[in-house]
Amino acid sequence: MAHARLMSGNELAKQTVDDAANRAAVFERETGRCPCLATVLIGDDPASETYVRMKQNRCRQAGIESRSVRLPATTTTGEAVECITTLSGDSGVDGILVQHPVPPQVDERAVFEAIAPSKDVDGVTMYSFAAMAFGEPGFVSCTPGGIMRLLDAYDVELAGTHAVVIGRSPILGKPVGMLLLAQHATVTYCHSRTVDLPSVLREADLVVAAVGTPEFVRGDWLKPGAVVVDAGYNPGNIGDVHFAEAAETASLLTPVPGGIGPMTIAVLLSQTVEAAGRHRS
Ligand code: NAP
Repeated sequence: MAHARLMSGNELAKQTVDDAANRAAVFERETGRCPCLATVLIGDDPASETYVRMKQNRCRQAGIESRSVRLPATTTTGEAVECITTLSGDSGVDGILVQHPVPPQVDERAVFEAIAPSKDVDGVTMYSFAAMAFGEPGFVSCTPGGIMRLLDAYDVELAGTHAVVIGRSPILGKPVGMLLLAQHATVTYCHSRTVDLPSVLREADLVVAAVGTPEFVRGDWLKPGAVVVDAGYNPGNIGDVHFAEAAETASLLTPVPGGIGPMTIAVLLSQTVEAAGRHRS
């Protein structure tokens, strides 16, 4: 029997998107144009096409214009950088999202760095990362941003707690650990070289799983009453946490699907509307 209370990303994402839609409507009334997100897809990876289409649909539903830019699979780094530089200078574009992954011949970092920080609504540039690390204003990577909003909505006390983040990717594990640190959690990062991960996890008041392996975190690795955030999203809608087992031990738990996934897009829309407002002033 499950004991954990679920943290519903669906519910909070809906509120976040509704709020973004209201702000987009005000922006349109006052400026005569909608906030605009440019999505850049390089190549023809079917999964990436689906993700981009989903983001574009959600934009339209929220009254955000979606400008679709498609570049061929043969695009060079120089061509991609030129395209992003043009969008960065286009006053009709408020946010830029480059869909990951890019084809192997393209230097993804160089492409990301061509995004103007004021339009980096997906939080992928080094500028945005540094701003987050220094606690300065800027856009956060969307999944970590969504996790923090969800924890806040469920009044999870972070100060003084021991948070363990499994994963250290630049878009997810690393930034979420830094955001937790900024909220005064004591943060431990775990990764593929961590020795005896279960014993580290058993000390954790809060666990963020960002591993990319289905049902990786087992129930008996968790401290009773822990708060568990499952950021994983594996084929078949399976998270990085063994849901049924974790539900026996955790006090709060995010489901997959319906947890962190919807929050990621909601933060993207919210940050796009915020970027539009900042460009105006
Ligand atoms: P990633 O770049 O592949 O990073 C995975 C991390 O997990 C790495 O730091 C890796 O360690 C660590 N790891 C792998 N095997 C491990 C093991 N046996 N023990 C401990 N750590 C291990 O993945 P990501 O992009 O951060 O994504 C992580 C998960 O989040 C995936 O399921 C992905 O689908 C999901 N995700 C969801 C959203 C969303 O919108 N919901 C967005 C982004 C990602 P090393 O650094 O040592 O290799």
